Amino acid sequence: MAENGIIRLLPEQVASQIAAGEVVERPASAVKELIENSLDAGARRLSLEVLGGGRALIALRDDGCGMSPADARLCLRRHATSKIHTLDDLNRLRSFGFRGEALASIASVSRLEVKTRQAQDACGVVIRALGGEVLESAECAMAPGTRVEARDLFFNTPARLKFLKSAATEQAAIIDCVQRLALANFEIGFTVTCDERLALDLPPTNALLERIRQLFGEDFARSLLAFEISTAEMTISGFASHSQLSFASARMIFTYVNQRSVRDRLLARSVSQAYAGLLPRGRYPGVILFVELPAHEVDVNVHPMKTEVRFRRSGAVFEAVYRVLRDRMANQIPHVPPLAAGQSPAKSEQQSAPTGLARNAFDQSTPSPLANFAFCAAAQTRSPDAQAKSGGLRLVVDSALPRYSEPHSSAGTFESKIAQGTSASTPPATLTRSEALVRYSELRLLGQFLAGYIVLEHDDGLLLVDQHAAHERVTFEKLRAELASGGVRVQARLVPEALELSRVGAGEVLGALPTLRALGFEVEPFGPRTIVVKGTPALFAPSEGLRLLKDLVEGVGEEGLAQNSASAFELKLKLIACHGSVRAGRALAEPEMRRLLEELDLAPFNTTCPHGRPTYIRFDLRQIERMFRR
Ligand code: ADP
Ligand code: MG
Repeated sequence: MAENGIIRLLPEQVASQIAAGEVVERPASAVKELIENSLDAGARRLSLEVLGGGRALIALRDDGCGMSPADARLCLRRHATSKIHTLDDLNRLRSFGFRGEALASIASVSRLEVKTRQAQDACGVVIRALGGEVLESAECAMAPGTRVEARDLFFNTPARLKFLKSAATEQAAIIDCVQRLALANFEIGFTVTCDERLALDLPPTNALLERIRQLFGEDFARSLLAFEISTAEMTISGFASHSQLSFASARMIFTYVNQRSVRDRLLARSVSQAYAGLLPRGRYPGVILFVELPAHEVDVNVHPMKTEVRFRRSGAVFEAVYRVLRDRMANQIPHVPPLAAGQSPAKSEQQSAPTGLARNAFDQSTPSPLANFAFCAAAQTRSPDAQAKSGGLRLVVDSALPRYSEPHSSAGTFESKIAQGTSASTPPATLTRSEALVRYSELRLLGQFLAGYIVLEHDDGLLLVDQHAAHERVTFEKLRAELASGGVRVQARLVPEALELSRVGAGEVLGALPTLRALGFEVEPFGPRTIVVKGTPALFAPSEGLRLLKDLVEGVGEEGLAQNSASAFELKLKLIACHGSVRAGRALAEPEMRRLLEELDLAPFNTTCPHGRPTYIRFDLRQIERMFRR
């Protein structure tokens, strides 16, 4: 047996360079580490200078606590950290850093200079290193704080260099990284210059929304809905864009766990599910989401760059995030300033539903003034009562109907607390935007446009409501509420009617009887291609119900008919709501429009139809005046 083995310990420098690859993948990852160090050092203002996309130079100056000369000499060593001493400390971690690897890694692949001074010291110290090897250290004059400068990144790792993208792309990644950090640290000032041009200038603020405005502009900030929920285990808060705004990519979704920016699949999935059905296909919302939970509930030590985390109870996190966002989405209110008091014609003409959060009022069983209204588009000239008796397309049948009480209605949520003004945790200043507690029915009705749109006036411009989309949402939510409380209400037919089917045999319908029953259709097979219909959903006129059944059976086809998963039910409800809702191209009388708007006010998710198309589009006066070049 040979004496000498083949295994050798790598020289420290080679080991460092290999390890550096994990931490410093590209210039933006070095920037992230440096900024996190400055934040950990308690800095209030940071300024970053970048040349050549970060390859030529990354320099970060902060006004943090600085380091003693001895610490400055140590800080470039691998596993040199002031932030933890034992593994146990990880469970109480309050800092971004803890591995003591960042400076060592950056140093090993660049020409590094650290200048630092503690406030109590008379002067600072400067350390220069090349490829991780300290070349010199000396006293220097400087204001308290730290400046770390990395030049010629990856000069000694040609393989890594080859993988870098263009300077413009690397620079964009740096900006993205600073934005992520700046969002979570809005009280800290940031400036970034790229190739000597000011790229970001973010003065310190005292509100997240203000930082959002600085970064992404007024329009985006205005599209946001605040949310916050606190349980014993976690706090979830942030802003989510109104469902009428969407983006082609997920780039406006920012997720944080304990203030740390993370890209987490679980959080991404909760967000996308919360918006399910509200955005057009392939579009993404803008969301700034903060999850705070005890340090021992989350493992931050699973990723070298710490951009991924592991939750101890991921199911609970998923559920809580989904729930708070979904509740918020269910109750978006159009951002329309209210008409001045007494100006609303809707109020004078009929008793309108209680103001404030409509659905709170609805969760009580007081009969609503809308309860007995019948919506009949066919016979506009007759009175609502006459229409109810004649049975047109009815929106609400009688006051005994269950109201829109989704199992997770907003009662007791953050939103309703705001409305009642009883929120214990003072909502962020931005929530004054819930002056937006305005409802479609309270805006001035100007009329109908091209038999497809309802035109409304608000103080600030015009609102066009798509009558089909609006009615579809109203119908869908009613059906869904009925389904949730035991099944869609059936109205028995006086005379059972035979219905001939073309695509699907009566045999297949037989297998789907319970599903059809839950959807409000009572049928029996009768011959190979014929069924007998004994009852249809009470929400629709009997003749309408017959047509809907046919559309449903034919539209869903054999395979889908019997499927009874929650999502299969939703699909069927959408189909029924779509086919059973007033079409564009139908003239509506004024009372019909008013009823529709009132019902829309009461429906959750009332800013989009069940397929995610908008129910209304808004034209601001400013916009209109611009078109007139005023
Ligand atoms: P970590 O952040 O994981 O501790 P780093 O390699 O990033 O490891 O930094 C090593 C140490 O250097 C830190 O623990 C901290 O004590 C010190 N340090 C780094 N940057 C700064 C800074 N900007 N201001 C003050 N101290 C710093
Ligand atoms: Mg660090």
